[in-house]
Amino acid sequence: MDLNGFENTGTDPLLIRAIKEMGFEKPMPIQEKVIPVILEQERDVVGLAQTGTGKTAAFGLPLIQKTDKKSKNIQTVVLCPTRELCMQITNDIQNYSKYVKDFRVTAIYGGASIEGQLKELKKNPQIIIATPGRLLDFIERKKINLSKIDSIVLDEADEMLNMGFKEELNSILEKTPDSKNTYLFSATMPREVSEIASNYMNNAIEITVGGRNTGAENVSHLYYMVQARNKYPALKRIVDINPDIYGIVFCRTRADTKEIAEKLIEDGYNADSLHGDLSQAQRDYVMHKFRTKNLQILVATDVAARGLDVDDLTHIINYNFPDELLIYTHRSGRTGRAGKRGISIAIIHRKEMHKIKLTEKLIKKNFEYRLVPDGKAICEKQLFSLIDRMERVEVDESRIDPYLDVIYKKLNWLTKEQLIKQFVSLEFNRFLEYYRDAPDLNIVEGRENKREKGKKLNRSEVTRFFIKMGKKDKVSPAEIIGMINDMTGTKNISIGRIEIFGTFTFVEVDKAFTDIILSNIHRAEINRKQVYVEIAEPPDKNRKNPKTKERPFPKKKRSKNKNQN
Ligand code: ADP
Ligand code: MG
Repeated sequence: MDLNGFENTGTDPLLIRAIKEMGFEKPMPIQEKVIPVILEQERDVVGLAQTGTGKTAAFGLPLIQKTDKKSKNIQTVVLCPTRELCMQITNDIQNYSKYVKDFRVTAIYGGASIEGQLKELKKNPQIIIATPGRLLDFIERKKINLSKIDSIVLDEADEMLNMGFKEELNSILEKTPDSKNTYLFSATMPREVSEIASNYMNNAIEITVGGRNTGAENVSHLYYMVQARNKYPALKRIVDINPDIYGIVFCRTRADTKEIAEKLIEDGYNADSLHGDLSQAQRDYVMHKFRTKNLQILVATDVAARGLDVDDLTHIINYNFPDELLIYTHRSGRTGRAGKRGISIAIIHRKEMHKIKLTEKLIKKNFEYRLVPDGKAICEKQLFSLIDRMERVEVDESRIDPYLDVIYKKLNWLTKEQLIKQFVSLEFNRFLEYYRDAPDLNIVEGRENKREKGKKLNRSEVTRFFIKMGKKDKVSPAEIIGMINDMTGTKNISIGRIEIFGTFTFVEVDKAFTDIILSNIHRAEINRKQVYVEIAEPPDKNRKNPKTKERPFPKKKRSKNKNQN
């Protein structure tokens, strides 16, 4: 038995079998510490660890194991801040429990049909993964009863509180029995999280892994590459795909700062500018608006932003990449503070790529290349954000009551479905209209603004990649294409011949995407497994390659010559 293995944590062999298949060899530190406590002790746990340290399995595995599979009752509730996370955790739990009989888990989250989720609930899940708003809704509709649960997990407690779920958390916790165990996980321990812990938890054991978050660790660096004239439209799309953005757009000059802010305001964004031409009173006014979050986007020069100290910025956008690299670190250091995650974005044109490379060396972190989102992605994002806001809005009964009668009468002719359509369109048409036929803004060498999906490629137009995964790994052409799509961030890419051998695969990809693929090698994954990818030798050379015993080209009948879709 492996001394460092999951076996030592007391984890059930059936669970171990499933997670080994997922590539979990040995427990991560938080798992090593938390799993035995949940399995063996009936007590509350506070787990503090940064993101990406394996917290889901730390509570997921032991809670699946402790579940009474014969029972049809909800025994565990996992609360998490967002729909994405909710689906992700559910998916993880499903994967871990692949070999466990009579175990059921369901996701309950906003922005999706209530009916579908009600149907899932009828299958009597023992664990539910939920976002607070929707869970409360179900509790109020008497579709979910938490009065008999054994455990509750508050995952990403700090994020839930950041997102304003404090009231919801309190009312949910009120509805759970005193006898339950509470497991709180968080990357940070701000005051509000401690409050929840002290109000609702007893004699909790605190398990901390690694230091508490430091600023720079939490910042992701992304870049987008567009032609200089497309910088402004790209900025708009980046803002549109991040409806909850609270950030600073940095420009080099006062003139740029003013111009960008004016354009944003004209285009309907909640933006303003901060630069040297403003009087002190004007500056104070703008800063105050921004600090109190009555302003979403601040366009600023480096000098003017100096006096501004705000902790919870979601994004820093480098509209002009700074000439001095130290300035970049100052800018990006304004986000990802106080244990929160932050994103620093650079919108560059092709000639600025070397600055990205130099900066990577300086900050000892890689930038991720991102494609400017297309209209469809933005419209989707906006739509769901709208629905989320609608679900979360506070209804002040006493104020709207006097009008409701008239409104009900006036809208009487609409069915519920029609009403929803009308209401959604009201807000949404602006985006649909703006992004109708919106061009691709990304610079992909020689392919600007063209959509070339499915086009046949000839040899001189492709780069051939070697992928260390083949028939033995049961990899399919669709999975190869999926991986390339994920790495490039687009499905709009022509893929040529895919040749799958025993232990490796060759795939031909539109040459224009070579750099993007190379800069995203770390994102090469199939079935959640990291995959080794490199540029293959051209076919002729490969024929002599002694490394590969197999024939470099398969026989005719086996050759796959597929274009995507
Ligand atoms: P957190 O919730 O702490 O942010 P996650 O639970 O999402 O982290 O895990 C981060 C990543 O690490 C996931 O991709 C997960 O599949 C992977 N992972 C978790 N535990 C292990 C393990 N023991 N061995 C290998 N990978 C793991
Ligand atoms: Mg997590």
